[in-house]
Amino acid sequence: MLRIDIITLFPEMLAGFLDQSMMKRAQTLEAVAFRFINPRDVTTDVHHTTDDRPFGGGPGMVMKPEPLFAAVESVKTPESRVIYLSPQGRAFNQRAAERLTREPHLIFLCGHYEGVDERVIEALVDEEISIGDYVLTNGVLAAGVIIDATVRLLPGVLGGAGAAEQDSFSSGLLDHPHYTRPETFRGRSVPPVLLSGNHAAIAAWRKEQALERTRARRPDLL
Ligand code: SAM
Repeated sequence: MLRIDIITLFPEMLAGFLDQSMMKRAQTLEAVAFRFINPRDVTTDVHHTTDDRPFGGGPGMVMKPEPLFAAVESVKTPESRVIYLSPQGRAFNQRAAERLTREPHLIFLCGHYEGVDERVIEALVDEEISIGDYVLTNGVLAAGVIIDATVRLLPGVLGGAGAAEQDSFSSGLLDHPHYTRPETFRGRSVPPVLLSGNHAAIAAWRKEQALERTRARRPDLL
């Protein structure tokens, strides 16, 4: 079972999402177990302070090291991998999701305000991951994206064996188009080969479509 701890000031932002659809199924199957740690809960001062003004001046606030050290150290073991969500991290992709499925314990550290005190990253973080070249208010949505992409790849979560293999990026290509009933809708018909029952011809058509799409939309993948 993959254990995932999420350190965030806003657990409610993610808790509902993790309790739906595939993330809920993954928990029911005991493929994954989630826990939240709120740094505010491990503060020792009366005001439960988690942020302070930046040394050197400037706008915004910085997350203080003490609550983040306490939060990480409350769950970290020698087999944990601590990931800081950051726009400055390595870009996340399908290969990274596949790699994370092989870890026994992931700790996601979600920043807020201007980010976290640099000493937290130096001392505690194994890896910084970005979900794209834009800046979010908070790391918790980024953690949700990475968790979803990773957990759906855990054995059994998607149901049928190989269910993720035809998805875009898994084989190195974009996925082929999909159709369902009715056969004709508002004058548009399903490609006849998909109704032929000829499995070899269907597989060949899908392969050709995936290649054509990838060439047209993402030639960099070829
Ligand atoms: N001052 C920081 C910078 O420019 O690098 C940005 C701080 S951002 C307002 C607050 C938090 O959101 C970050 O600490 C990080 O945890 C999260 N975050 C923002 N954009 C992200 C992205 N593209 N990928 C992952 N996490 C992100």
